[in-house]
Amino acid sequence: MKIEPSEPPAKRPHRKFKGTLANVSRSYKTDQFNRFQNLEDYQFIPSVNFHLWEPCNMRCKFCFATFQDVKQSILPKGHLPKGEALEVVQELASFGFQKITFAGGEPTLCPWLPELIAAAKEAGMITTIVTNGSKLTDAFLKANRKNLDWIALSIDSLNPETNLKMGRAIAGQKPLSVAYYKTLMESMKAMGFGIKINTVVNRANLSENMVDFICEAKPLRWKILQAIQIKGQNDGKISEFLISDNEFDAFIEMHHQVTSCTTLVPEPENLIKGSYVMVDPAGRFFDDASGIHRYSCKILEVGCAQAIQQIETDFGKFLKRGGLYQFSI
Ligand code: SF4
Repeated sequence: MKIEPSEPPAKRPHRKFKGTLANVSRSYKTDQFNRFQNLEDYQFIPSVNFHLWEPCNMRCKFCFATFQDVKQSILPKGHLPKGEALEVVQELASFGFQKITFAGGEPTLCPWLPELIAAAKEAGMITTIVTNGSKLTDAFLKANRKNLDWIALSIDSLNPETNLKMGRAIAGQKPLSVAYYKTLMESMKAMGFGIKINTVVNRANLSENMVDFICEAKPLRWKILQAIQIKGQNDGKISEFLISDNEFDAFIEMHHQVTSCTTLVPEPENLIKGSYVMVDPAGRFFDDASGIHRYSCKILEVGCAQAIQQIETDFGKFLKRGGLYQFSI
């Protein structure tokens, strides 16, 4: 099946950011979670997620980023050649993005990830990876310390059976242990990385209380995302894991006390969809505003300015989900 770039949406275009984050920070009110409010007039989302790599060594059944559609249509290997991926990073930096998050699939499986991180840092961006943590050796951490600012660890449960049920396990069979996560985070802290934890709340972990773990780990940010259905990515497996908005709110409420030891960042379905600027493994912007990935033309063929107008993003939602914060460590 060949997937054609979608028609540009009728919504407002994505404008280039002209101010500084410091200016924005001074001008607007924040709520109890330090998220910016009433900023719908601001248009430029200054952070971008580059899903550079389709392969993954885990099998999470709710995964929003399986990219089998991309692999089966235009990118059989599931990733760009190294040189083109480096060019994409350069284009994103030149366009004005201030922060880049390398995601996947599992980005640490990509042999040239360190070069992409270094190129982004060299181009002046704040750098982040989102990882399941299974490949974060001391050698990787040491080798990337100079250029990598943040590491977001995906931890959905501390219970091996729950992780197995979700597929949050190597090859879907070997979950990482709590002791592994703790040792890993100690190493990351000792080396000075900014630590985030991302948790996807779904039917399997809905009643799990993670307060003690989070308060011991003390990440700088704990992002809690509602499991959502994205057509073409997870619709074959997600139904048994979906939860209601009220159930998501109850999970947040159960963990409210962690605000004394971390910044809690709740992301319900309505704030996830359309609030991220993302680039797929083929080097195209995409959005999920309507519950399906909508892909732009390739950045290296038409440039960021044209490609980004072919997706729909909502800066107001970006602010409401707490996307704007002090990026530097
Ligand atoms: S580790 Fe991440 S990319 Fe891999 S299957 Fe799980 S959610 Fe998807």
